[in-house]
Amino acid sequence: MPGRQRIKMDKSKRKTVIAGNWKMNMTPTEARKLACELAEALSCTDTAGSVEVVVCVPFVDIFAVSQVLSGTPIKVGAQNVHFEKCGAYTGEISAPMLAECGVTHVVVGHSERRQYFGETDETVNLRAKAALETGLTPIICVGELLSERDAGITEEVVARQTKLALAGFTAEQVKRTIIAYEPVWAIGTGRTATANQAEEVCAYIRQIITNLHDIETAEAVTIQYGGSMKASNAAELLAKPNVDGGLVGGASLSAAEFAEIVKAAL
Ligand code: PEP
Repeated sequence: MPGRQRIKMDKSKRKTVIAGNWKMNMTPTEARKLACELAEALSCTDTAGSVEVVVCVPFVDIFAVSQVLSGTPIKVGAQNVHFEKCGAYTGEISAPMLAECGVTHVVVGHSERRQYFGETDETVNLRAKAALETGLTPIICVGELLSERDAGITEEVVARQTKLALAGFTAEQVKRTIIAYEPVWAIGTGRTATANQAEEVCAYIRQIITNLHDIETAEAVTIQYGGSMKASNAAELLAKPNVDGGLVGGASLSAAEFAEIVKAAL
């Protein structure tokens, strides 16, 4: 993306976060087993202070996974949250409910929710706000379709999604938010963005946040890459100055593979 003014960013000012998204996989029994395997795979790895590790599990697995991971540095996240605290919203789960179950992070606006469940930029904003107000960290997903990349409107799409997702947030709230750049064409397809493509858009998102607030805020925000990240490509992606971690789908279903991704971030 030519002509853009690049801001030199200091990676030490923000957290590196590797988050697994288990999607609609794992019964509670299977979840307990995978969480045990992950705790074991990372038991000799000192992530403290350098990398935050989260597994975003189906709602029904939260209890089992929290039990297994209590006493480890691995945090438990959810994959969605409703924006109201309680009420007549059959089938929904609120932020206070998640918080009381020990959840610390929640994925908001994943492309699968935008694509199949009518998630809009406006509801992404409401859900992220509800998460923040309850002390949860929202992981807000943004990213273009393949047709949008081919049409040369990646920046336009990502700018719209990011600005609307963060609308009305204070700088302090933005600093407590994680943005995951997930090009839709790379999710679950085995087709990873190149490290340069990931860096280019993550840097652009940071520029958007600088424009919305200020450079200090932008430098504090964790911006992950997601889209077929695996042990074999994680190190190259995570070495980029504006890629502060990964949102990992398929590869997070193998404890050994996910642990290798975490190690690549250290
Ligand atoms: C995701 O679910 O957010 C994701 C990036 O999936 P995958 O790693 O399987 O592409």
